[in-house]
Amino acid sequence: VAEGGEVTYKKIQSKQIMGSIQLGIQHTVGSLASKPKRDLLMNDFWEMETIAFPPEGSSLTPAHHYSDFRFKVYAPIAFRYFRDLFNIEPDDFLMSMVASPMRELSNPGASGSIFYLTDDDEFIIKTVQKKECEFLQKLLPGYYMNLSQNPRTLLPKFFGLYCFHYNSKNVRLVAMNNLLPSDIKMHSKYDLKGSTFRRKASKAERQKASPTFKDLDFAEHHPDGIFLEADTYTALMNTIKRDCMVLESFQIMDYSLLVGIHNLDIAAKEKREERIRNARAKLQRKEGSAAAAPLATVNDDDAPEADQVNQLHAVASYASIPGTSAAGLNRTRSMNRQRLVAHSTAMESITADLDATIEEGDDEPKGGIPARSSNDERLLLYIGIIDILQSYRLEKKLEHTFKSILYNGDTVSVCRPSFYAKRFQDAMGKQVFKKTPTFPLKHSPSKR
Ligand code: ATP
Ligand code: CA
Ligand code: CA
Repeated sequence: VAEGGEVTYKKIQSKQIMGSIQLGIQHTVGSLASKPKRDLLMNDFWEMETIAFPPEGSSLTPAHHYSDFRFKVYAPIAFRYFRDLFNIEPDDFLMSMVASPMRELSNPGASGSIFYLTDDDEFIIKTVQKKECEFLQKLLPGYYMNLSQNPRTLLPKFFGLYCFHYNSKNVRLVAMNNLLPSDIKMHSKYDLKGSTFRRKASKAERQKASPTFKDLDFAEHHPDGIFLEADTYTALMNTIKRDCMVLESFQIMDYSLLVGIHNLDIAAKEKREERIRNARAKLQRKEGSAAAAPLATVNDDDAPEADQVNQLHAVASYASIPGTSAAGLNRTRSMNRQRLVAHSTAMESITADLDATIEEGDDEPKGGIPARSSNDERLLLYIGIIDILQSYRLEKKLEHTFKSILYNGDTVSVCRPSFYAKRFQDAMGKQVFKKTPTFPLKHSPSKR
C-alpha cells in the first residue's frame, strides 16, 4: 500500500520493516553461531525465540535509529538445519541478508504482500498472513521429511520464518530462494496455475516493464506450448508430479509454477544491437569536438541513500563481518553467486545430474532449463513452484494440527486439493510443456 509516495505495510514504513528485520536476522544468525551443530529434534520445529530491540541498544542488541521493536524467530535450529541442507553457510546467509539494503519488488499478486530482494539477488523475503505463518510452522516436519527423501524438487526453499513486532502490529515474513536472478534478462515470465478462470494479467500489470503474465496470456503467446528434449521433459514432469503429491497430501492449493523465459536468440540480437549503438556513439564522440567530454559523468542513480549506507556501516561493524570493504564485498558476492547457483538452479531441481549445465555456451547464462519455442527459438527456463502456504484445510477453519492435516476423514476437503493438483499437472504436461518430436520441427515429413 502506497501512502504519499512511501511504501507501507500495515501502516508501517517499508524501510523501517526492512532495516529492523536486517537487525533481527543479524542477531539470530550471530547467536546461533555459538550453538554447536547437532541433529534435528522434533521440538526444534515448534521452538521460537523473541528478542527486544530498544533503540538505545542492550547487552544483546546494538543501538539503532528505528523505532522500538521485537523480533521473533520461528524454529531457529530447524531453519539452520535447512540452510545447511541447501549448502548455505551462516556467513554467506548473513552477508546476503544484512550487508546491503534490500530492494523492494512491486508485487503482481493480489494479496498485498511485500517482497524484498537481497542486494546480491539470492533471497526473497515475503510478508505472509498470520494463517500462512501458522501453516508453515505446522508444515515444517513434513517439509523436512520431503527434503530428506527428495532433494530434487521445485518446491520453495524456505530459509527462515520471522515476525517483526512493532506498535502492537505483527509483520510475519518468510525468507526463500529467488527464482529469477536479475542479472539474467527474462524476456517474459508467467505465473501458471493450470486454471483458465480469470487467469489473465491485469491491464496495470501488462503495462509494467517486466509484467508477470498468467495462463490465458501464455496460451495466447505460446499456443503450441514450449518444447523440451525428451529426457528433460520426463525429468520435469516427474518432479512436478512428486511435488504435487506432497502438496496434495497437505491439502495445499492455489500454488503456481513461476516460469521465467530467457530467449537466447533475442538476447543475441539485443547484444548485437547494443554493440552497434555503442560503436556509433563512439564514432560520434570522435567526430564531435572535445566539448563532448562531459558524457563521461558518473551515473549514481542507484547509489543507496546516505541514511541506508550509515545503517549498513553500523550493522557491518557490529557484526565485524570480514570483507565488507567494497572490493571485498564484491569478491565475496561473486564467489557466493557461483557457489549458491550450483545448488539451486532450475536444471538441478529436476535432474540429479550435477553436470547438467556443462554443455551451455561460455557467455550464456547458467542454470536454466534448455527449451525451444514452437518457432524454434532457443530458450532457457527458470522455474519453481511458489505460493504454497494456502491450505484448504485452514481456509475451512477446521482444526489444524499437524496430525489433522495428515489424517482427516473429511473427503470434501481432500477432493479440491486433489482436483487442483491433477489439473495443474495436466496443464503443465500437456499444454505448457511438450516433448520435442523426434523428427525436426520445421521439416516434418507431413509438410513435404
Ligand atoms: P496471491 O496470493 O495474490 O497470488 P501473493 O502475494 O501470495 O499473491 P505470490 O503468488 O507468492 O504472491 O507471488 C507473486 C509474484 O511474485 C509471482 O507471480 C512472481 O512474479 C513473484 N515471486 C514470488 N515468489 C518468487 C520467487 N521465489 N522468486 C521470484 N519471484 C517470485
Ligand atoms: Ca499466487
Ligand atoms: Ca498467496
